[in-house]
Amino acid sequence: EEGSAGREAGYWRLSKLAVPARDDPGKDFAGVSPPLLQAIAKALKFPVSSMLPEEAFTVIRKSFDARKILKEPQFVYTVDVDVKRLLDLEPRTWDFIARLEPKLGTIEYMPDEKVASDLKPRVAVVGSGPSGLFASLVLGELGAEVTLIERGQPVEQRGRDIGALVVRRILHSESNFCFGEGGAGTWSDGKLVTRIGRNTDGVQAVMKTFVQFGGPPNILVDGKPHLGTDKLVPLLRNFRHHLKELGVNIIFNTRVDDLVVKGGQVKGVVVSDSRLQLGSPNQTLSFDAVVLAVGHSARDTYSMLLRHNVDMHPKSFAVGLRIEHPQELINDIQYPELAAEVHKGRGRIPVADYKIVKSFGEGDAELPEQNRSCYSFCMCPGGQVVLTSTNPSELCINGMSFSRRASKWANSAFVATVSSHDFRPFESHGSLAGVEFQREFERRAATMGGGNFVVPAQCVTDFLSNRLSVTTLPPSSYRLGVRPSKLHELFPLHITEVLQQSIIMIEEEMPGFVSSEALLHGVETRTSSPLQISRNTGTYESTSLQGLYPIGEGAGYAGGILSASVDGMYCGFALAKQLSLFHGDI
Ligand code: FAD
Repeated sequence: EEGSAGREAGYWRLSKLAVPARDDPGKDFAGVSPPLLQAIAKALKFPVSSMLPEEAFTVIRKSFDARKILKEPQFVYTVDVDVKRLLDLEPRTWDFIARLEPKLGTIEYMPDEKVASDLKPRVAVVGSGPSGLFASLVLGELGAEVTLIERGQPVEQRGRDIGALVVRRILHSESNFCFGEGGAGTWSDGKLVTRIGRNTDGVQAVMKTFVQFGGPPNILVDGKPHLGTDKLVPLLRNFRHHLKELGVNIIFNTRVDDLVVKGGQVKGVVVSDSRLQLGSPNQTLSFDAVVLAVGHSARDTYSMLLRHNVDMHPKSFAVGLRIEHPQELINDIQYPELAAEVHKGRGRIPVADYKIVKSFGEGDAELPEQNRSCYSFCMCPGGQVVLTSTNPSELCINGMSFSRRASKWANSAFVATVSSHDFRPFESHGSLAGVEFQREFERRAATMGGGNFVVPAQCVTDFLSNRLSVTTLPPSSYRLGVRPSKLHELFPLHITEVLQQSIIMIEEEMPGFVSSEALLHGVETRTSSPLQISRNTGTYESTSLQGLYPIGEGAGYAGGILSASVDGMYCGFALAKQLSLFHGDI
């Protein structure tokens, strides 16, 4: 017997909440610990315990129970719940509470109703990036039968595949910096910054969930929280174990190649073993709903959606180059008084970063193609430049770091916005015009580099003077080699010119930025999705295909780890509601 509730106006009393002694902070602790919050969430049938506000709960009694009949010793709690505080939760979260609302003050705890497994709705979540993981978490917690399908490898093997790429130049097309458990966010910088509002309940819930799965608690208070790859990998392993405990069926090395559509409704997916060559046997799996969380590099999946006439349209994104400086130079520019201490690496002061935005031709409605912003993006202090290609003939890069940010380099994308005007030469590709635009520059970069994943590079000073770097290039953190190239000829002139003008303007603000030690690398194309898959606000369902739920960055609704996680979480809520996973009147 676990958790029971009493009544009192405005309060619920939950009793018999058991926390195993090994998880409890101990006899002297009378507050609400994360394991207790989990027990409360279970009693309330609330899906994500980290979303519950601690302040809503007061511990009334705590006793130790080590009776032999128990599997293990435990602390048993009685807790009062301030209902009003729960109702203050963010409106969409509130849906969960609403099922209890008609009974406010008279709530009675219902013991776990076991939903017969053949009655559970079956949901496929395609992609185990942040959006797919959070959708699976919410749906799994609410009782759907979830199958999480990932084309890449689990983090353990994915790490070895990335090692093979960086050391032996072997690119596994299905297990790399973009594909595999945790998605594109795993071997990344792990910056947890977002433009959707740091303090919104959704973002806070995601951050707390990261802490619950082993992320350092300081991410909840840091102004610029950062995980780093070494922290992300174990966190993802814990996430996976939790999903498995919930009964989520996780299948790796399995690529969704097609959708099964009958009468305008998705009925399932066709999958194949992604480790085998094309032509491997396909398998059809039936589902009641398919959540598509494939990220922005699944170009084959985009083509498949186009064949099904799924509503999609090109969207603006940004392209450019990645600039790298010695980290000490950036420290010197950003806080010269403290730079000496930072260089000594005592770790008291964080290594310096920067953020730059420049706008051109703004507001000229007559010439929309000249309205362009140029900005730094995904700046990785103490990081390294990495290869994010998923195909050897298309070369693109990004940046990653480890939690200590201890490398000698500071790199950042330096990109200019592009929109449908820029994609005109690729109009024949319809909604995939932006994808073809990206491909064009990735292929050019691969050719300029001369193959073998060597990256074309140019000194910033030479880029500004439109000349090939003839002297030896400054050192780069990129492990697979750089080749002096005419990067000023990579993009159309109007894009190159705004990049050049911006760099000159930055030098005025950050003297020393234009330096013989600063090296540009090509090419940065996958800053965000080049298209958006249309969906209904509120239900998250595709506007053209029932039963399909496009989410995350690949669908055009997120631009980083946090926003993708939040999108996945809320889609989980919305879908659970449509699948009638709530008990009650909703
Ligand atoms: P993804 O993370 O791209 O996940 C999609 C998943 O779907 C992948 O695992 C893929 O293998 C799988 N998949 C694709 N197609 C199929 C299919 N047909 N069948 C089965 N599975 C499929 N963001 C930040 O906020 N901070 C950072 O510091 C940061 N640094 C980054 C560094 C690098 C090197 C990269 C590449 C990205 C970085 N990002 C960063 C961006 C961030 O990783 C993404 O915004 C985020 O991961 C998007 O999440 P998602 O779930 O939408 O998609």
